[in-house]
Amino acid sequence: MNTALRGSLELIREQEAEVLIQTYDRIPVLLERGEGMHVYDSDGREYVDFLSGIGVNALGYNHPRIRAAIVAQAERLIHVSNLFYHEYQAPLAARLTALSGLDRAFFCNSGTEAWECAIKLARAQGKKKTRLLMMKNSFHGRTMGSLSTTGHAKYRAPFRPMLPGVTFVRFNDVEDLEAKFDSSVCAIGLETIQGEGGVHPVSPRFLEKARELTRNSGALLLVDEIQCGLGRTGKMFAYQHYGIEPDIVTVAKPLAAGLPLGAVLARDDVAAAFHPGMHGTTFGGGPLACAAALAFLEELSGPGFVEGIAARGEYFRDRLLHLKTRHRCVRDVRGMGLMAAIELDSSALAKSAVHEMMERGFIINRTHDVVLRFLPPYIVEAEHIDRMVNALDEVLAGGTANA
Ligand code: PLP
Repeated sequence: MNTALRGSLELIREQEAEVLIQTYDRIPVLLERGEGMHVYDSDGREYVDFLSGIGVNALGYNHPRIRAAIVAQAERLIHVSNLFYHEYQAPLAARLTALSGLDRAFFCNSGTEAWECAIKLARAQGKKKTRLLMMKNSFHGRTMGSLSTTGHAKYRAPFRPMLPGVTFVRFNDVEDLEAKFDSSVCAIGLETIQGEGGVHPVSPRFLEKARELTRNSGALLLVDEIQCGLGRTGKMFAYQHYGIEPDIVTVAKPLAAGLPLGAVLARDDVAAAFHPGMHGTTFGGGPLACAAALAFLEELSGPGFVEGIAARGEYFRDRLLHLKTRHRCVRDVRGMGLMAAIELDSSALAKSAVHEMMERGFIINRTHDVVLRFLPPYIVEAEHIDRMVNALDEVLAGGTANA
């Protein structure tokens, strides 16, 4: 690395330590540009990104269609307030409702805002029913409502008291769900695949029971697809693998291919609980992010695109399962499509594996202490998967291979 650039990483680290509120434990790498599956640091080192930001850059870096949409829109109109119309919210909502089977959309800026809106809608629709059944081990975001419904005590603890009326259910435990459900519940909320919690798909039996209980009592089924939605699992929405239809779905991360945008999709009669003035946002659904999102959905809807995700997901899964046969330290392989994970037998090993993979030029992620999580861009090819899995094979062979 040339000294000027090294100076800039160190300078930035020193400045950030002094002037930023310390919320992140960053990896000491200064990323400068990206292209396709690759991102480059200030040393000019290339990394193959198996995390896509965190599930955001689903078309990789510098995708021509996304870049063109953003540049063209930036030259015309970046922001208008929601006091006025612009040309993109209606077609984007029409696209998302057609793909999801729901009827209406609300646009915001992030995942946590989408989930906040879903909770507000559930409370408004439920009237006197106010209890929310949420899942242990879940993650819905960092704002107070989303945090209150996030099933990890460590995230909630410093910020008590939380939103009242939230009960946590053991994920995939049908008996616990039935025991905690009653007529005071306005909604059951869950991730179709728990992401931060270690990549755990909901079981068909549990999701069916949640659908049945809510339908019979007039409560709502809220599904958080902020991480697993929009093609990630090899279907447009992960719940479409289960043959059920939720009442409210939230999406965000990849929606505008890197620009901040979230959406809440709801059934018509549910959406009717909101009247003008009950909810809103300054930036949400602006023309720049919506134009990028339309370009993203255009690409995603191309012939065979989502099926291709499913096929490459299968290939990836087979390669990860092969690793399991070779290394005793691999406890489990989980996921759907291109949302994949392997669970290791030690937190220290998972931590060092992420570090060593970075040294070898691969960005992967550790979640839930012992889980290596992979959320590669949808443009990943078998060749990238082979290279990454071979590197991981070597890393895990650090004294732990069976073979
Ligand atoms: N819900 C799920 C399932 C998520 O994975 C995340 C983020 O990781 C969120 C909500 C929060 O999204 P954001 O960070 O955009 O607020």
